[in-house]
Amino acid sequence: MTDPIPFDQALQAFEPVIGLEVHVELGTNTKMFCGCPTGFGAEPNTQTCPVCLGLPGSLPVANAQAIESIIRIGLALNCDIAEWCRMSRKNYFYPDMPKDYQVSQYDEPICVDGHLDITVPTDDGPVEVRIDIERVHMEEDTGKLTHAGGDTGRIHGADYSLVDYNRAGIPLVEIVTKPVVGTGRLAPAVARAYVAELRDIMRALGVSDVKMEEGSLRCDANVSLNRPGDPWGTRSETKNVNSLRSVERAVRAEIERQAGVLDGGERVVQETRHFHEDTGVTTPGRSKEHAEDYRYFPEPDLVPIAPSREWVEELRATLPERPSVRRARLAAEWGIGDFEMATLVNAGVLDLVEATVAAGVAPDAARKWWSGEFTRVANERDVDPADLPVTPADIGRVEELIASGALNDKLARQVFEGVLAGEGTPDEVVAARGLAVVSDDSALLAAIDAALAEQPDVAEKIRSGKVQAAGAIVGAVMKATRGQADAGKVRALLLERLGVSDA
Ligand code: ADP
Ligand code: MG
Ligand code: ZN
Repeated sequence: MTDPIPFDQALQAFEPVIGLEVHVELGTNTKMFCGCPTGFGAEPNTQTCPVCLGLPGSLPVANAQAIESIIRIGLALNCDIAEWCRMSRKNYFYPDMPKDYQVSQYDEPICVDGHLDITVPTDDGPVEVRIDIERVHMEEDTGKLTHAGGDTGRIHGADYSLVDYNRAGIPLVEIVTKPVVGTGRLAPAVARAYVAELRDIMRALGVSDVKMEEGSLRCDANVSLNRPGDPWGTRSETKNVNSLRSVERAVRAEIERQAGVLDGGERVVQETRHFHEDTGVTTPGRSKEHAEDYRYFPEPDLVPIAPSREWVEELRATLPERPSVRRARLAAEWGIGDFEMATLVNAGVLDLVEATVAAGVAPDAARKWWSGEFTRVANERDVDPADLPVTPADIGRVEELIASGALNDKLARQVFEGVLAGEGTPDEVVAARGLAVVSDDSALLAAIDAALAEQPDVAEKIRSGKVQAAGAIVGAVMKATRGQADAGKVRALLLERLGVSDA
């Protein structure tokens, strides 16, 4: 076996061509052809019925919501929507597919000829790349096999395998790009940026939860290399890459591996490969040199899909603003940069910040609460930030109390602690916990006098003009009032008390 060639060196001799196949599990309530629920994480084989188990005599019915979702996806990717198309049977035997065929689309995909413009971050600034989309088609997911008893989790070396059909029949959309050429050393970053943009679009469309770690968005990365001027090389297909970072690393690893193979005078084998997150290399899977014959034929149990032009236009009117356009608009409105925006997006709080700003909270404050305190609590509780029991209106109310001087930052945190613990609205928590800034001068003066009496040496220093020493007394007063005083006010009262002016 030949050794891989370092990336930069590989790119001096070869040009990469990439092609991405992305599978998205739709977030419909029920499966593609039956009424079984689709929730993730249920007990194995509890979400099945005769249709998705492929029992004889059962008949499929297409899920209208799934068809609507795929048309919206196709429109968001600038595709043409077929006026008439059919589902096909892709025949093969494998234990994860109980019918012995997968209902899919073959020569009549529902969406064709689209494109997606993406922005690729590079060391020299952002680069715009257009990715042409070949097709977007409908299919059904397979069941899930778990190979137990071995140390690799793969079928080789396993003692036995378990099969779970809960996933079998969940609607799946496959988005296939045309070959992407001319990206050179940016190829890995292009692949990553494309999958990221797709994910954001799916999320904005609300058609899938697109959790790569749960497999609701999966990417197969095709890569080939050719010498400049030569025809495209033979491609490998790295399957089921399940994080954005891995998409980038897998493409890079394949470029390095194939360059080594070609440079050593050998040929690249057309095959599927697996990417290993731990070692960062790909290893061979199934050979694809002899095209399998799936004996595709039109599914006789389902009627053709013939979306009317009126329906397609109605669906076009439901398309959301492009995520990248929206991010740029909000960043400008809130006066923040790319880094701050990325922080909000990665924490999954962009919608929440937007809703909070809409509730009247200043953008900086809305960002601060959501990307700080609330993200931390959501992580601790392992829930989505949107599922925390705090509303934009709550944040609005707390900010009002801060502005009026009734709360300071520290107290505001305690109010939210109460709200998040289910103790009620901010006002209820303030009342129940007795959280309010002590603004009564006589109470503060009493606390100041007590602190001065306890630290006479400090008092002396301040009197002699060492105003910096005031911090110790202010700190003691804040402690005595359990943080419920306005530190600035305490300081002013203290200096007045000692007859010192703030230099
Ligand atoms: P398969 O079912 O074998 O995976 P598909 O047509 O579904 O085939 O997907 C093939 C993918 O590979 C497409 O994204 C296509 O653009 C891409 N592709 C085709 N030829 C090449 C090549 N020479 N190098 C890299 N990618 C390629
Ligand atoms: Mg494929
Ligand atoms: Zn079912």
